[in-house]
Amino acid sequence: MTVLRTRVAIVGAGPAGLLLSHLLARAGIASVLLDSRSRQEIETTIRAGILEQGTVEILGEIPGSRVHSVGRRHDGIELAFDGEGHRIDFAGLVGRGVWLYPQHEVLRDLVAARLADGQDLRFGVTVEGVEGADTAAPGVLATDAEGRPLRLEAEVVVGADGSHSIVRRSVWGGHAAGMFREYPYAWFGILCEAPPSAEELIYSRSADGFALISQRSPTIQRMYFQCDPDLDPASMSDAQIWDTLQRRVPGTTLHEGAIIQRDVLRFRSFVASDLRRGRVVIVGDAAHTVPPTGAKGMNLAVADVVLLAEALEASLTRADERPFDAFAERALRRIWKAQHFSWWMTSMLHVAPGQSEFDARRALGELRTVAESEAGRTYLAEGYTGWPLG
Ligand SMILES: Cc1cc2nc3c(=O)[nH]c(=O)nc-3n(C[C@H](O)[C@H](O)[C@H](O)COP(=O)(O)OP(=O)(O)OC[C@H]3O[C@@H](n4cnc5c(N)ncnc54)[C@H](O)[C@@H]3O)c2cc1C
Repeated sequence: MTVLRTRVAIVGAGPAGLLLSHLLARAGIASVLLDSRSRQEIETTIRAGILEQGTVEILGEIPGSRVHSVGRRHDGIELAFDGEGHRIDFAGLVGRGVWLYPQHEVLRDLVAARLADGQDLRFGVTVEGVEGADTAAPGVLATDAEGRPLRLEAEVVVGADGSHSIVRRSVWGGHAAGMFREYPYAWFGILCEAPPSAEELIYSRSADGFALISQRSPTIQRMYFQCDPDLDPASMSDAQIWDTLQRRVPGTTLHEGAIIQRDVLRFRSFVASDLRRGRVVIVGDAAHTVPPTGAKGMNLAVADVVLLAEALEASLTRADERPFDAFAERALRRIWKAQHFSWWMTSMLHVAPGQSEFDARRALGELRTVAESEAGRTYLAEGYTGWPLG
């Protein structure tokens, strides 16, 4: 067995793990980062696209980051319902914006920056468990890319290993170690080769259900519509997909093109009951998941990591344990705000199966309350562009 030793062992080279290794290195703290996937797989998986302003400020400081050169700032969104569009002017309401910069581009930037900085980052290493959480020297057990056993010993172990987190399962147990909510709908997502159909994102509620018209680049677009969670993505023809999308955004003529990827994304909310046990911590999707409507998942992972990096710097460089002891409680405050925001956007914009006429009209009343009042628009703008970090 190969045995390695470092100060912080990080499981998962997603946005949370990579950013944490960067912030720790900046504070002079060594870490080893393990991920079961290959670099190519990590850099090509299509996921999040919307970055809050605070996320962009952090990522923009990383050497080589292309968030400002390739990412596009959006100063608002359109909220569409009852046949009308209403612009929510983020810049005018809260002086902030969001950036459209796909997660796989964020990951390309982070991987390149970490490797250039000499980070010990190992791809193809599958973590199987964590030992000694309550001791001063917890250990990670893994199998390396050649199938050999590996043990990584550290002062702190961080599970940044996504929603199926092995770190969470091996230290706390599975989903039972938290609060879980499933929604009765999912998103059918497509990537298509077409020019943008709108300048800004359109969040639309129609009588048939929700649709989101989003952009990726001048030639590739990402769009979603609400569907049954059990729908087989292969069961719809391209024509049916375009017809469904078009009917749900009646005020906009969509530019159609070849559909190059399709998937069905189930909605789940989860919050772990605790983010820390002894010297083991979980962050990002390992600690919480949100439905994608509020675009909070990756941003929340970044917010966790900013707080954790501060806490670990105090603990590991100044022997000040207070920020580390306060970490979980501080992180959970934002996590629950984001859970509420994501639930609110989701329930207001989607049509629940079997929804009564009363509830359908009540949801339109809620959308009108938001769109027609400056206080309502400001509430949405504040939550969407992100509360201050740290
Ligand atoms: C379709 C879709 C759209 C989304 N849209 C948005 C959006 O617009 N805005 C937003 O903010 N969020 C969005 N999200 C959510 C966002 O993608 C996640 O919240 C984000 O990826 C969480 O980052 P993370 O680093 O915590 O976890 P992950 O990105 O899941 O990274 C975890 C890493 O751990 C590795 N790993 C897992 N198990 C092991 C193991 N046993 N051993 C070693 N390595 C392991 C994985 O390979 C992975 O690389 C979206 C998600 C999806 C699926």
